[in-house]
Amino acid sequence: NSTRIKKPDWLRVKLPIGESYKHVRGLVDTHKLHTICESGNCPNMGECWGEGTATFMILGNICTRSCGFCAVATGRPLPVDWDEPQRVAEAIYLMKVKHAVITSVDRDELKDGGSIIWYNTIKAVKALNPNTTLETLIPDFRGITEQIQRIIDAAPEVVSHNMETVENLTKKVRVQAKYKRSLEVLATLKKGGMRTKTGLMLGIGETKEEVIATMQHLREVDCDVLTLGQYLQPTPKHLPVQRFVHPSEFAELKEIGYELGFDYVESGPLVRSSYHSEKHVLKGYGR
Ligand code: SF4
Ligand code: SF4
Repeated sequence: NSTRIKKPDWLRVKLPIGESYKHVRGLVDTHKLHTICESGNCPNMGECWGEGTATFMILGNICTRSCGFCAVATGRPLPVDWDEPQRVAEAIYLMKVKHAVITSVDRDELKDGGSIIWYNTIKAVKALNPNTTLETLIPDFRGITEQIQRIIDAAPEVVSHNMETVENLTKKVRVQAKYKRSLEVLATLKKGGMRTKTGLMLGIGETKEEVIATMQHLREVDCDVLTLGQYLQPTPKHLPVQRFVHPSEFAELKEIGYELGFDYVESGPLVRSSYHSEKHVLKGYGR
């Protein structure tokens, strides 16, 4: 892709090395699990896996959707694996982490949208790891309240649902998703008593004003935690990077986020939805 722009220095990352990294690698393989760290080519693998943590991706590694930024494969997923919740719980147990993050592909072909496996996974993780806090990064479940309610019933400490981008670009960036529907998902979670979180990728064509407008919409549904990070094009077939947002702009947006009333804002070029997730489990950790 000739439009690819050279990565600035602030996006250079550490290479994955060390014993903790190997431990996580071994657990993921022996428990036949998938991680968004690998599927999403995350630049922080050296850091996170090196600290003994990873974000598991449940319900397989084939997604029914085809978001223009996402490196996860699109297609017909494999049948649901009912043993997966237990394997995730065991891997988290063996990782000995205080906090874990779980996400999933979207399973729009399933009647329950995958919400029963989600419920079982949260319950299994909590049963085996009563002292581990949990963040679940969930799909929109096509806005179906009954499915979102299963997450609320399982009660993870934080529930995130990513807006990913501003209103104007949602159709292009998240082909099968809807901006307002995602806001409603966050509103439903909040009404259910959850601590809510969302994330946006910057540099995919949005303006700063549009980012601020989205932040305002998020505060209208009382969203607690916000992550802002640089979009990186996973392969030449994905949407191109429009610009590399300077660290100073990330810092400015972080300030604006706090002024708007978010409880915690993580904002920087390498920030991903699950990055430093352990820092905002509890209310009042911001700034
Ligand atoms: Fe995995 Fe999230 Fe860390 Fe990236 S930031 S390596 S996706 S845990
Ligand atoms: Fe990727 Fe999630 Fe979109 Fe599926 S729904 S393509 S996993 S971002």
